[in-house]
Amino acid sequence: MSTSEFDLIIIGGGPGGYVAAIRAAQLGLRGVVVERDRLGGICLNWGCIPSKALLQNASVVETIQHASDFGVQIQSFSIDFSAAIMRSRTVVTKLLKGVEFLMKKNKIEVIKGDATLTERDRVEVQPGGRALTAKNIIIATGARGRSISGLTIDGRQVISSREALELAEVPDPIVIVGASAVGMEFATIYRSYGAEVTVIEMLPHLLPKEDEEVSFEFEKAMKKADIKFRVNTKVVQATRLGDKIQLEVSTNGRMETIHAQRVLMAVGVQPNVENLGLETLGVELERGAVKVDDYCRTNIPGIYAIGDVTMKLPLAHVASAQGVVAVETIAGKEPRALNYNNIPRCTYTRPQVASLGLTEAQARETGREICVGKFPFRANGKALGINEYEGFVKLIVDKKRGEILGAHLIGPEVTELTGELSLAKSAELTPMQLAHAVHAHPTLTEVIAEAALASLGQVIHA
Ligand code: FAD
Repeated sequence: MSTSEFDLIIIGGGPGGYVAAIRAAQLGLRGVVVERDRLGGICLNWGCIPSKALLQNASVVETIQHASDFGVQIQSFSIDFSAAIMRSRTVVTKLLKGVEFLMKKNKIEVIKGDATLTERDRVEVQPGGRALTAKNIIIATGARGRSISGLTIDGRQVISSREALELAEVPDPIVIVGASAVGMEFATIYRSYGAEVTVIEMLPHLLPKEDEEVSFEFEKAMKKADIKFRVNTKVVQATRLGDKIQLEVSTNGRMETIHAQRVLMAVGVQPNVENLGLETLGVELERGAVKVDDYCRTNIPGIYAIGDVTMKLPLAHVASAQGVVAVETIAGKEPRALNYNNIPRCTYTRPQVASLGLTEAQARETGREICVGKFPFRANGKALGINEYEGFVKLIVDKKRGEILGAHLIGPEVTELTGELSLAKSAELTPMQLAHAVHAHPTLTEVIAEAALASLGQVIHA
């Protein structure tokens, strides 16, 4: 079997891997991507993209349901969930073609198959056994949905988001285990399509990693949307009864039985580190993920890892940003290390939730003196005009230095507002500088400027 030589081998063609390959091509490196499934990885095929397409369908259904708020009377309408799934798959196909085109345009070879590292600079691809060598290798193999004991994902009654994204019928009733972004996004989709939805969360709040005030506001909105939820709750036992499933759950020791047609597991992901040859080469793992430094270097020179397999912050834009940092490091460009505190984390529910940096509790734990600036959407003209005015923007600021330590948003389209905050944090802007940039009126972005002013005690419209 012949051996092909490259400057860089990338294992995995998700948003980490394919972006790394393009950056490598731009820098004149001859790279190759080995992908066992489809370019675009989980994000494009079974994650970010199809789920957001379905959420848009859910939003259309909700708008029709509330059309009378706008004086539009709709006597009857019908909804077809299979059409929503089909639309989401069409969006995926379009984007997939786009990524394939980008690979061709950048003259990047994509090899279909399973890659294993056989030596520090050598990868073997199965089936076929083709051998590839390169001075540098990037592991970008992503992660997969986790099961919990007693609730193993079987793809039928207990499903992951992977199966949910192909399910042409709304599972009703459905139990979602895990109030993560993924769990709450599916809760929103299924509730909009009429299903009885119950979310089970072990921690004290929905979206438990968010600022507590945001979680409270979010829980109010979920109650209003008639999404049932139990926090501080564990699944104790699951019994399959024909085509149904019965769950025994315990909330602080109080037992309850819940029946569902299906259970969707959304309890996080586990890195794809198996069968890659990592043990043989001595690549160090940390809590099951590949351990990397600020430049995505593993402990083995020439071997890098990016994206969900590192579990630094399992998000698509993080994977891509890590890909660029890794490749620029390989090319000797000395890139700026990523600051994970400046990277937005988004949940595309209704209302949407987004955050960057430290929560108020985390900021207080640092011992710094902080001030909090908060502004509600109900005092914003644009939010009232579009009839979506729940929520607020909250900024956590270091009182002495003026540094923005954290930003927490809940409300209409707040995921679109994170760019400004990410830029402000990266450029180390103060709330005063943020507020001095004149924001167009009427826009939702005015809420950010007002929250910045609020942190200085200078709020105008509240
Ligand atoms: P992946 O996208 O998982 O790609 C890894 C690739 O490697 C896969 O294509 C796999 O086939 C391939 N591979 C693995 N092992 C091998 C091997 N040995 N040989 C060859 N190929 C291999 N993130 C966001 O930022 N925003 C969102 O809105 C969002 N929504 C999500 C919704 C859902 C339902 C899910 C499940 C995830 C969502 N995510 C979202 C997370 C996002 O999908 C991941 O963070 C992202 O895909 C990680 O990119 P990656 O390149 O590290 O890995």
